[in-house]
Amino acid sequence: MASADNDDATEVVQRLFDLIRAVPDFPQPGITFRDITPLLADADGFAHCIDLLAEPWRAANVQVVCAIESRGFIFGAALADRLRCGFVPLRKPGKLPPPVVAAAYRLEYGSDALEVRADAPHDGRRALIVDDVLATGGTLAAARSLVEKTGMHVVGAGVLIELTTLPGRTHWGGDLPLHALLRY
Ligand code: AMP
Repeated sequence: MASADNDDATEVVQRLFDLIRAVPDFPQPGITFRDITPLLADADGFAHCIDLLAEPWRAANVQVVCAIESRGFIFGAALADRLRCGFVPLRKPGKLPPPVVAAAYRLEYGSDALEVRADAPHDGRRALIVDDVLATGGTLAAARSLVEKTGMHVVGAGVLIELTTLPGRTHWGGDLPLHALLRY
C-alpha cells in the first residue's frame, strides 16, 4: 500500500506514484524493482517531483547537494539547481581521479564503496545527501559517513522513494531529518 510522506495524498503525489513502474523479481527473485524511468520521461511529473523534493529544504540553507551514483545524480543535480546550491557527486570506486576519500559498505551480497574528491573546499559546507531509493539504508549511511569525513556538515537526506518494509530509516538514525517523498 502506497502513501505520501505527509499523509496528504494530493493529486500530484498520486500522479508520481502512477509514474513509477513496479517490476517484480528484478534484478533477482523476490525484489520488486521501482523503475523511475517513466517518471523521468514525464515533463510535468519530473518537474513536480523536484519541486516536492526541494520543499522541505528551502529554509535549510543547503550549500551543496551530495548525490549517490548513479540514479541519485539525476534527482540530486536537478534538486541542486532548484535550491541554487552546488553539487558534489559521490561516485563508485575508480571513477574520480585522486586524491579521494572513500567509505565502504556492505550490500546484501558482497560490498561496495563510495568516493568523493578529497581536495575540494568541503570544510563546514552544509550538505544534503540525495538518492533515489532508500532500501536497507546501507548506501545512505555510507554516504553520510563519507560526507562527514570530508568535514562537511550534513543537514539531512532526501530520497524519492522509501521502502518502509526494510530498516533503512532505522539505519539512518533519528538525529538528522530524512525526507522521503513516496513511501511503499
Ligand atoms: P540500500 O543500500 O539497501 O538502501 O539500497 C539503496 C540503493 O539500491 C539505491 O541507490 C537504489 O538505487 C538501489 N535500490 C535498492 N532497492 C531498490 C529497489 N527495490 N528498486 C530500485 N532501486 C533499488
